[in-house]
Parts: sequence; C-alpha cells; structure tokens
Amino acid sequence: MSDIRTIGILGGGQLGRMLSVAASRLGLRAHIYEPGAAPAADVAHALTHAPYDDHDALRAFAESVDIITYEFENVPTSALDLLESIRPIRPNRRALAVSQDRLTEKTFLNDHGLTTAPFADVPTEGDLDAALARIGRPSILKTRRMGYDGKGQIRIGDGPTEWTGAPSVLEGFVDFTAEISVIIARGADGQVAAFDPGLNVHEGGILRTTTVPCGLPAKLTTDAVLTAARIANALDYIGVMGVELFVTPQGLIVNEIAPRVHNSGHWTQAGCVVDQFEQHIRAVAGLPLGDGRRYADVVMENLIGDDMDRVPQLLTTPGVQMHLYGKGDARPGRKMGHINRITA
Ligand code: AMP
Repeated sequence: MSDIRTIGILGGGQLGRMLSVAASRLGLRAHIYEPGAAPAADVAHALTHAPYDDHDALRAFAESVDIITYEFENVPTSALDLLESIRPIRPNRRALAVSQDRLTEKTFLNDHGLTTAPFADVPTEGDLDAALARIGRPSILKTRRMGYDGKGQIRIGDGPTEWTGAPSVLEGFVDFTAEISVIIARGADGQVAAFDPGLNVHEGGILRTTTVPCGLPAKLTTDAVLTAARIANALDYIGVMGVELFVTPQGLIVNEIAPRVHNSGHWTQAGCVVDQFEQHIRAVAGLPLGDGRRYADVVMENLIGDDMDRVPQLLTTPGVQMHLYGKGDARPGRKMGHINRITA
C-alpha cells in the first residue's frame, strides 16, 4: 500500500463529493478546500472554507494532506504555486496549464498530431475580423479561459458579431454526427485504463445524457481511446482525465481535455466494478488501477434545475441508480444530481 492517507481536494462541488466517497471506501481521508458552498464537505473528513488568495489557509491545508488533487481546472496559478511548494499536485501542473487555456490546449493537441477544429487566436475585439476572414462562418468564439458548460461562448452566424469581453479563440463550426468522450486513468507507473467511450447529448451547452455503449464502429472507439492515451502519456499524467471528441465523416476531432473526473464518466458508477472516482483516487494515491471494464449498458442523465421534481418517481423506477448532490437551491441550469439507468 502507498503511504498516502489524506487527499486534499481543491473544489467542493459534486465531483469533490464523489471523490471523497471513493477515498473513504479505500480507507483514505479527503480534505476539501473550497471558497464557496461545499456539498463535498458533507462527506469529507475536513473542510477549509477560504478564498484562493488566503496564503495561511492554503499553507495549513497543504500541510494537513499527503497529496493534492482537484475537481476543477481553474484554480488560480498563485495558489497552485504555493500549494506545490509544500505537497505534490496530481494531475501535474502541465496538464492544468494545457487545459486551462483553449489556445494552449489546441496548440498542444495539434503539436501531438491530433486534429482540432480550425482555430485562430483573438486576443482583442480588434482581431476578430482578421480571424473571421481566416476561419469563416459559421464559427464559435470562446474565451480562452474559464469556459465550461457552454459559458463564455458566442456562436457567429451570418449576422453581426459580438465580443466575449476577454481574450478568445475563434473556432470553425464542426458539423459533427455525434459527440463522444473517453474517460481514461493513468497511474503513477504509466499504466493506463480507459473506460468505454460514451455518447454525449448536450442541451444548451450542458451535458444532458451519456449512453454506453456509444453505438459507434469499433474502429472509431479504438481511435478515441488511443487518442486519449496519447494525450495522457504526452502529459505524463497521473489521475483520471476526460477527453471530449466530435465524430465527423472525416474522423475524430478533439474538442476539449478535462484534467479531472468528468460528468460524462458518471455512468461508470453503475457500469463498472471500479468507477472513475475510485480510479482517480487510486491513481493519485499511488495505488494500482482497478477493473474498469464495463459490465452493463447504462444511460446517465443529469438532473438539472426542476428535473428535481421527477425524483420521487425516479426513486421507484426499477434499474435506476440515484445520485443527489445535496445542493439546496434547484436553480435553472444547475446540476442537482444524476441518475444511472441500467438498460441491459
Ligand atoms: P465546450 O465548452 O467547448 O465543450 O462546448 C460546449 C458544446 O458546444 C460542445 O459540447 C458542442 O456541443 C458545442 N460546440 C463546441 N465547440 C464546437 C464547434 N467548434 N463546432 C460545433 N459545436 C461546438
């Protein structure tokens, strides 16, 4: 067994919550660091409730844990610098730097021979016309940083353009036939375990459902897994990573890398013996990766906003596994929980 006993988790949302549960099942403790509301703290060993510029709190947090991981990629660099001077951060800083910035991410992917949507750097509003002349319309303007669930994105059609208000990239619109993702784990020894690719359906930029098996030909799913493994190896990655891909008649296009457990991997809780959360904890704690084979067909559905009204009925539906995040207010667009429906 490894010497790691307490895992520090930056971020106290639902991903941190499910990571904490996985840690506890392996006899480990989770210490959450979260400036805001922390549903993860309900199931964790300790909570530090402090902002990311509170150096004393960051130092005390780091000293109380053996290793630091995170549930979201937008942790400020200055906080990471301080934390890393005290304890190792897994996945590493390079994985964070690449995925925090869409321009760096796409450049990294292209440098490793992987296809992305055509893109152009748009540092200021004044650069947009030149970028549009190169990339064409329709296209999507995305902020380089801090984008998630379709936030910070503007679709550009034939009409007048808008500006995101921050340094951005302009991406050519990909006419995809499907969106899939690969959740892959890589251990400290370089061992890799990929979960089966899932088929993702988004509504309004937010993930609605993930279905496994994804129903695509084996050639494509193999290519997807190889792509994810190549990215994990290139980053010398330790932990679980989500890779989102577009399927097109010309092949796969990488949309985005998430250096963490991912919403489209929640199906693994009902489909696999070792789910993505346990796999991540195993990897960052230096334990061997587990059995990530899929033993069931599953549809994961997010419960967003007033989907919560369906909970009583879903609780009595056969084959449905319920996960609620313990969040108070079911605002529109807010992820409140998810279900995993076993379909075969
Ligand atoms: P993202 O935040 O980059 O994952 O984008 C959210 C969603 O917007 C994706 O899952 C796609 O459904 C859609 N999208 C993003 N980029 C593109 C693109 N270049 N072409 C077409 N659809 C896109």
